[in-house]
Amino acid sequence: MKKYSVPLVMLALFEGIAVTLWLTKDNIFYLFNFSYIGLSLSLGIFLFAVKYKYARRVAQLLVGGYMLIYLGLIKGENMQIEGFWYYLFTGVFEAATIHYAVAKIFGPLIFGRGWCGYACWTAMILDLLPYKRPRGPRKNIGWIRYVTFLSSLVFVAALFLAHVDNMERVMFRAFIIGNALYYIVGTALAFAFKDNRAFCKYICPVTVFLKPMSYFALLRIKRDESKCVSCGKCRAVCPMEVDMTDSSRKRKNGTECILCFECVKNCPKGAL
Ligand code: SF4
Ligand code: SF4
Ligand code: SF4
Repeated sequence: MKKYSVPLVMLALFEGIAVTLWLTKDNIFYLFNFSYIGLSLSLGIFLFAVKYKYARRVAQLLVGGYMLIYLGLIKGENMQIEGFWYYLFTGVFEAATIHYAVAKIFGPLIFGRGWCGYACWTAMILDLLPYKRPRGPRKNIGWIRYVTFLSSLVFVAALFLAHVDNMERVMFRAFIIGNALYYIVGTALAFAFKDNRAFCKYICPVTVFLKPMSYFALLRIKRDESKCVSCGKCRAVCPMEVDMTDSSRKRKNGTECILCFECVKNCPKGAL
């Protein structure tokens, strides 16, 4: 029963959010939205528990596809970081602001960067590329994330200052163009650096929120020293170059862990 506790906790957590938002915002959409996301994530974690090879992919496609196609393209909500700034500036605590609060700002205090492993629609595509494990040394260009973060903020602030007409339409177009750019740049970087997750490591503006918050995450990979034989297999398979053999919060690249459990699956001693 113990191995099923994580999907059950995840389901309960999202149901709590779903019901709270439904009742406080008096909008049944939130009940369906967060129930669907919670069920999808719990299904992915459950499939992992029963050792289904593509468990994480199932959750990624169910959640990422839903958010990109239904919320983004059909309902026309900008769920990118520009959308977050937009709704924040308009003072509306809805859509992208709620999404960011749950998945990327406060949620990571509990589930770290689970968003990046199980739900992001950008990584959903990047993870299909051939370089699942980085083939070169990590680059020292993580500062780019701060440039993209500030650019998104300046872009939306400029729209407000210029009193642009029909902001909703502009934001929808920004969502389409922004996503296309993410996919193009992310794919090009993956091939250039031979690393599917290069975009996540160096460019993605959302990591400016995700990294500091996930430092305090409740759910973390830890090593049982009494079982470990220091074979190094876990570090060799990690897509994010985390040193999971160090259980401290200050471990190397600790805020990069996307909880993909590749290290856990590959540890011959069950030490993680
Ligand atoms: S780092 Fe950014 S692009 Fe990568 S998975 Fe996380 S949110 Fe998505
Ligand atoms: S392999 Fe392990 S340490 Fe690396 S990102 Fe996945 S879960 Fe985290
Ligand atoms: S794979 Fe397991 S046994 Fe090997 S170093 Fe990692 S934690 Fe230790």
